[in-house]
Amino acid sequence: MNGKVYLIGAGPGDPGLLTIKGLECICRADVIVYDRLVHPALLAHARPDVELIYVGKASSAHTMKQDDINRLLVDKAKEGKTVARLKGGDPFVFGRGGEEAEVLVSEGIEFEVVPGITSAIAAPAYAGIPVTQRGLVSTLGIITGHEKGEDSRINWAAVAGLDTIVFLMGVENLPNIVSELVKNGRDPSTPVALVRWGTRTEQETLVGTLSDIVEKAQQAEFKSPAVTIVGEVVKLREKLRWFDNRPLFGKKVLVTRSRDQASELSELLRQYGAEPIEFPVIKISPPESFDELDSALERIEKYDWLLFTSANGVRAVIDQLRELGRDVRWLKGPKVGAIGPKTAEAIQSLGVRVDFVPQEFVAEAVVREFPDDPKGKRILIPRAKEAREVIPEKLRELGADVDVVTSYKTEAEESDVADVSDRIQAGEIDIITFTSSSTVRMFAERIPKVPEGVIIACIGPITAETAESLGLKPDVVAEEYTIEGLVKALVAKCA
Ligand code: SAH
Repeated sequence: MNGKVYLIGAGPGDPGLLTIKGLECICRADVIVYDRLVHPALLAHARPDVELIYVGKASSAHTMKQDDINRLLVDKAKEGKTVARLKGGDPFVFGRGGEEAEVLVSEGIEFEVVPGITSAIAAPAYAGIPVTQRGLVSTLGIITGHEKGEDSRINWAAVAGLDTIVFLMGVENLPNIVSELVKNGRDPSTPVALVRWGTRTEQETLVGTLSDIVEKAQQAEFKSPAVTIVGEVVKLREKLRWFDNRPLFGKKVLVTRSRDQASELSELLRQYGAEPIEFPVIKISPPESFDELDSALERIEKYDWLLFTSANGVRAVIDQLRELGRDVRWLKGPKVGAIGPKTAEAIQSLGVRVDFVPQEFVAEAVVREFPDDPKGKRILIPRAKEAREVIPEKLRELGADVDVVTSYKTEAEESDVADVSDRIQAGEIDIITFTSSSTVRMFAERIPKVPEGVIIACIGPITAETAESLGLKPDVVAEEYTIEGLVKALVAKCA
């Protein structure tokens, strides 16, 4: 039986601008056939055994001819495959989706169209330009900028009279477009904007008028892919800009946390306009032996306090309780403390109340602000193998009986060092973030030198100290030692 082809609009660039239906198709597909303008992040949702076929299309150098693409879709469907045909923007807006659909019909192959958000509307929107505005715009046209001279089917007199005109594929042809519009009566002072890589973190915008945009574009060496917007609405950008003026816009930020923990930082960075690049240098693994932890848990009721120094420690204890055929109810007896808000959150998510979190989130503060007199108290600290000794040492000095048990360890993560190192040396990375001393150490072991000008950002003073000692001079140290605090400090630095 034949398979089915989905002609899917992958949206203009920002991976969040894919439809839910489009995403479902990507997740299911046996074969994905995609273009240059499709954001690579979308392919990460595909099945691990998917067949990915790139068919290119930079407007000058077609990687695969349209006839061959049509053939490919038909052949794969005839093999019984579910085919996701991904196209930038919307498949039916200058995307040749109609031609592909015609071929599928003539070959008797079932298909569906999943419309997408077209760059013609989204790129201006992300530049702060609404393509229509009440009182200003009654007509809107989307025009191919590709046609010129004798072959052009464009009725320039009609086009020049539209209130807002959006050209796709028009960068190379800009001089011709401008001269046709002016020749056909459009006022040379009409505002024009070019938006390149719209909705992506690389978005660039150039604003001018019909009389000077050609020169400005030449000077700036403005390249495709870009949309050109002509009309009074372009002026609204001054007021409505929202995307490319965010404080970390376009900044490439290295996230060195472990793979499981990176997403929170990455997401926050994205909200401020940065482009996170995940390069996990550590990973959390089980310790060589759980004997210490097991026997501590066995006598849990004897402890006055159970102190957690990271969310990883909380997870490790719960996992190990499960291994022992128990659960959180076993932890009755001791009061529970957390070094910071994330650790506290991890405890609370188990339905357990946290009795103590210090105001400042470092080991020193745990001791300083400890709510009990430590003298004679029995304290259990389940934590990483290679953690600092400050808490147990200080508490012991104050007369506490402290058991430190190894519950997990941080190890070097194997990641593609060569590629990231090249990007750092080439100045492609603007900011490197460190959220613990172990991330600094593992990073420095692999990438010993960072060029000047790269901003080094640390979550707190201890991490900063480790960085400094390894020759990575911190430019930003968070005042609040949390992920939010780190991003806040970066925003303040870059604003
Ligand atoms: N089907 C697509 C258009 C394909 S034609 C859509 O609906 O968006 C290719 C042209 O689309 C490019 O030359 C450029 O003009 C425009 N384009 C696509 N993605 C873009 C983006 N992210 N930013 C600016 N222009 C883009």
